[in-house]
Amino acid sequence: MAIPVLTPLPRVQRPRRATPADAVRPTRAEVNLGNLRHNLRVVRRFAGATRIWGVLKADGYGHGAPAVARTLERAGIDGICVALLEEAVELRNAGINTPILVMGGYYGHGWGELLAHDLTPVVYDAGQIDALAREVRLYRQTPIGVHLKIDTGMSRLGVRHDALHGMLDHIRGVPEVRLTGMMTHFANADADSLDATDHQCDLFERAVATTRAAGFDPEVVHAANSAALLRAPRSHYDLARPGLALFGVSPRPGLAADLRPVMRVRSEIVALRDVQLGDAAGYCSTWTASRPSKLATVPMGYADGIPRVLSNRGRVLVRGKSAPMVGNVSMDMITIDVTEIDGATIRDEVVILGPQQGPLGSDVITADEIAGHADTISWEILTGISRRVPRFFREP
Ligand SMILES: *Cc1c(COP(=O)(O)O)cnc(C)c1O
Repeated sequence: MAIPVLTPLPRVQRPRRATPADAVRPTRAEVNLGNLRHNLRVVRRFAGATRIWGVLKADGYGHGAPAVARTLERAGIDGICVALLEEAVELRNAGINTPILVMGGYYGHGWGELLAHDLTPVVYDAGQIDALAREVRLYRQTPIGVHLKIDTGMSRLGVRHDALHGMLDHIRGVPEVRLTGMMTHFANADADSLDATDHQCDLFERAVATTRAAGFDPEVVHAANSAALLRAPRSHYDLARPGLALFGVSPRPGLAADLRPVMRVRSEIVALRDVQLGDAAGYCSTWTASRPSKLATVPMGYADGIPRVLSNRGRVLVRGKSAPMVGNVSMDMITIDVTEIDGATIRDEVVILGPQQGPLGSDVITADEIAGHADTISWEILTGISRRVPRFFREP
């Protein structure tokens, strides 16, 4: 019997794929797929025999999940993890054949889609096992493999230690579902101390031992995110799930210095003006000129992913040199002070994220730097570059 699946429309809000006709506004994100492949080699060096399942949730951390997945699949990645069923289906529809683990745990009415698209769900409660079993009985004869999530300290998803026996008994009674993997997730793998991560490993290894003692034989056991992969060998187990590191950003200063950022965000100066001492700039006039100044307008704002808290705090690069943001970040624009940028003119490239070389020097703005100014983390900066910024994929 054919499995009824309704997936005609993309249900994931993804950035628009760029074509040259999209480049009316000069603001765009350049995604360097060569650097992505390089980063896969770097994480493989840390992983040794441990397999790599790249985490491509949230549209591949804002880089464009289908293109990222295609590149990693061709480079031989072992598997892919996403948060949402919708994200997994998007990748299957894009022709990705690699194993895909759906980690978010919310499948709504999508149990049939998990089967139809050959996806592996992460499960943590008995109701999920029963719903899957019903679907398997209706639509196919072979059991479905699932990965059981263990809560070892996040208190978010997963079976807690005291509930593990009950859960295992339940799974044993459902032949349509096979326990093929076990996983947990670290809360502090990027903290100064690895003590908390070690403790989570203790709890996880105990849960795995309990499960094996109960007669199960999970083929893969996994826990490591980027930070754990790069600094906690004990946590490597059978496979690792790096996200951030694949995109060239270290989860912590000083780890894997040879990672190469994959995304670069650039725009151009679209307007220039000279202002006088005391003139104000932007909403609420939070900046006033303390000297005669040259201000430039850049068409990228908070709706594109420049955090508004960067107002009067952030910086960009022009002609290879740093220029401060002045006044409040607007929805569609920022204003920058180019008084110190000799020769700054209309159509000069402005780099918001990434490196720039120019006649005045060379410099780089990292996701970590922006996150520091915005009092957040680099993950949020990357995933925050909005759909309005077209992605251009570059093969170096
Ligand atoms: C996001 C996520 C990862 C990857 O985390 P990074 O720090 O980006 O490497 C791994 N596992 C789970 C369960 C996640 O949600």
